[in-house]
Amino acid sequence: MIAYDDALKLVLEQASSFGDEEVPVSDALNRVLAESLYADRDYPPFNRAAMDGYALNFADIAAGVAEFKVVETIFPAQVNTKELAPGECYKILTGASVPSFADIVIRVEDAVIHGDHVSFNLNGPKKWQNISRQGEDVAAANMVLQAPCLVTAPVIALLSVLGKATVMVRRKPFVAIITTGNEVIDPTLPVNSVQIRNSNQSQLLALLQSIQITEISVSHALDDIDELKPRFSQAFKADIIISSGAVSAGDADYIPIVLDQLGVKRLFHKVAIKPGKPIWIGKRDNSKILFCLPGNPLSCLACFILFIRPFIEACYGIDPMLIPKFSLKDSLQKSSTLDEFFPACRIRDTNEIERLRFNGSGDIRAAVLAEGFGRHPASIKVLPAGTLVSFYPL
Ligand code: AMP
Ligand code: MG
Repeated sequence: MIAYDDALKLVLEQASSFGDEEVPVSDALNRVLAESLYADRDYPPFNRAAMDGYALNFADIAAGVAEFKVVETIFPAQVNTKELAPGECYKILTGASVPSFADIVIRVEDAVIHGDHVSFNLNGPKKWQNISRQGEDVAAANMVLQAPCLVTAPVIALLSVLGKATVMVRRKPFVAIITTGNEVIDPTLPVNSVQIRNSNQSQLLALLQSIQITEISVSHALDDIDELKPRFSQAFKADIIISSGAVSAGDADYIPIVLDQLGVKRLFHKVAIKPGKPIWIGKRDNSKILFCLPGNPLSCLACFILFIRPFIEACYGIDPMLIPKFSLKDSLQKSSTLDEFFPACRIRDTNEIERLRFNGSGDIRAAVLAEGFGRHPASIKVLPAGTLVSFYPL
């Protein structure tokens, strides 16, 4: 059986772009930027007063001038109309353009006004003090932001700074979800005593929506080869197919057989993880990938976090989500030789995580309280309290 790290590596090797598309900046939040951004002009575009105060020529201070005549007030968006003679200054407001005759702004708090003159309480003044100089953030034509990267609120602001109304982002995948199981019933319908409600369909939809994927088709198939086949055939038009159930060792676990008959190339079946061990992953047409997850809801969630989310990140070309390490609050013991991923939550104001009690992989309730999955490595039976373990955020 393949180990988790090897399985993930194999999955990530299958990643390829879904293409790019142009969207209005107002729709770009949380998308992946596909074009690097360049400065259309210097930033700041002019020498900008960083404080309310007085703009003057530093050489005057150096020459010992103690009192300056205020010749003009410059507001933001205004251009000076007067030149400075020695011993003269402008009053200037934050955000205004500092005229070429001035190279220092002295704060209004340090000024003492005498009619139309001003003197200053100076404390080691320096040339260019309180002036954000033209081009000091970035000079025209230089790269401001390299693609690909996530479009956050500051990136949205940057796009506005650069005067962009639309932007190229990565196209999102079209995903088909297929749930399976004779006992699995639409949650809006009545259930009998041996049926259960379909929670994987809504969970997978929500997980995809949480990463901005909205083009999703859903369908359900009974445990019947003749029903599974057309469901998968129809789903082949999607970029990614995610199924739940019917991949374990039971008599009705037909998916591996069906996919083999449909010519899907198996990457692997079963990974040394818990939950999620029966997972089946395959590839079709060298582009479409199929993640066939076991039916237990907690396994579905874990497999999404462990395989599907990193795969989509890799298709976008962005860095995978950070997997931080946290310290275990209590010692942990296991008997399996699998990598065990346990629902865990962080303990406020500490670097610790706590394993949540759960009754196996059917117990989705445990995940409701979880902030992620902690990893108990395959080869280690006992993890003493205080051990640093990887934490996969939900
Ligand atoms: P399977 O992987 O098909 O053997 O299913 C494993 C367990 O998950 C069984 O108890 C199923 O009833 C349950 N299960 C399968 N599919 C779903 C689903 N869509 N929603 C909730 N539970 C499911
Ligand atoms: Mg089943």
